[in-house]
Amino acid sequence: FPEKEKAAPVAKIKVVVRKRPLNKKEISKKEEDIIDIEQQSNSLTVHETKLKVDLTEYVEKHEFVFDAVLDEDVSNDEVYRETVEPVVPAIFNRTKATCFAYGQTGSGKTYTMRPLPLKASQDILRLMHHTYRNQGYQLFVSFFEIYGGKLFDLLNERSKLCMREDGKQKVCIVGLQEYRVSDVETIKELIEKGNATRSTGTTGANEESSRSHAILQLAIKKRVDGNDSKPPRLAGKLSFIDLAGSERGADTTDNDKQTRIEGAEINKSLLALKECIRALDNDQTHIPFRGSKLTEVLRDSFIGDSRTVMISCISPSSGSCEHTLNTLRYADRVK
Ligand code: ADP
Ligand code: MG
Repeated sequence: FPEKEKAAPVAKIKVVVRKRPLNKKEISKKEEDIIDIEQQSNSLTVHETKLKVDLTEYVEKHEFVFDAVLDEDVSNDEVYRETVEPVVPAIFNRTKATCFAYGQTGSGKTYTMRPLPLKASQDILRLMHHTYRNQGYQLFVSFFEIYGGKLFDLLNERSKLCMREDGKQKVCIVGLQEYRVSDVETIKELIEKGNATRSTGTTGANEESSRSHAILQLAIKKRVDGNDSKPPRLAGKLSFIDLAGSERGADTTDNDKQTRIEGAEINKSLLALKECIRALDNDQTHIPFRGSKLTEVLRDSFIGDSRTVMISCISPSSGSCEHTLNTLRYADRVK
C-alpha cells in the first residue's frame, strides 16, 4: 500500500486558510485583491487601506501564519489532500475527526466543503474493502442542519429532531436517519439530496443557508464478534460542518426580531466552538460544550481521541477586508 496509509503522526488541530479568486461582481466594482499568499512559509498578508485624519490613504499590513495557506489556484482535490485525507485512517481506530468550513457568506465554504465527504467516503470504502477486509466494518451517512438553535434532518424532508444525552456523555439525536452505504454512487445521491434540501429551505435563497450550520457525518461501525443480531458498535466518526456565515453572528441589532434571534444564536455557537477547540488544544479536561447547540451536538467528537481541521475561507477583495480580518483572527485564535 502507498506510504501515506501508514499511520503518520497527525496534529490534533490543523488550521488551513483558503483564498478564492475574485469574482465577476468584485471585478466589475473595481475591487482589488488585497491578499498575498506565500505557500512556502504558510503565511499570508492582508493589505488594508486606511485613512489618516487628513483623509490621505495609507496601507496597513497584517501578517498571519497558519498550518497551511491555500492560494486561489489550489484545486478541491488538493484541499482534500491537505485537510481530510490524513485523518481518514485514524477513524477506523476510535478517532472522531471533524472538519469545519468557517468564513463570511460567499467566501467559498460550501464550494470547499461539498466534495470532501464524497472523497473521504471513497477512501473509507477502499480501506474497508482492502486493509480492513472482512473485519465487519460498516459505513453510515447522516446529514442535518442547525437553524436558529433547532435541528432538522436533511435526509428526511427537513423533519425536526431532538437531541438527548445518555448518562455516558453520548449524544443521541432522536429520529435522525442514518443510511448504511456500501458504494460511492449511493453516498453521492444522499449528499446531493441533503444539499438540495438545505438550500431550498424556506425560501430557497443563499440567504437561508447562510444562517444554518450543515453537519454531514460519516460513521464507521463494527459488528460485534461478527454477530448480526447485535447492533454494530461505533468505531469512529468523521464530521463535515459547513458553518453559518460568520458575518451573521453580527446580526444582533437587525430590525427584524427573528433575524436578531438567529444572529445571537450564530454568534453564540461560533464563540462556543472557538472555546471548545481551544480547550481541546490545551488538553483541558473541562470542555465548554454547553455554550451552544452546535457544540452540544458535537460533544462526542471533542471527547477522547479527536482531530479537528478548520478551513477558513476568505474572499480576496478589498470590499471584504473587514470580514476577512475577522475570519483570520478567529482562525488565529484556534490554531
Ligand atoms: P459560501 O458557502 O461561503 O457562502 P460559496 O461556496 O457558495 O460560499 O461560494 C460563493 C461563490 O464563489 C460560488 O459561486 C462558488 O462557486 C464560488 N467559489 C467559491 N470558492 C471558489 C474557488 N476556490 N474557486 C472558484 N470559485 C469559487
Ligand atoms: Mg454556503
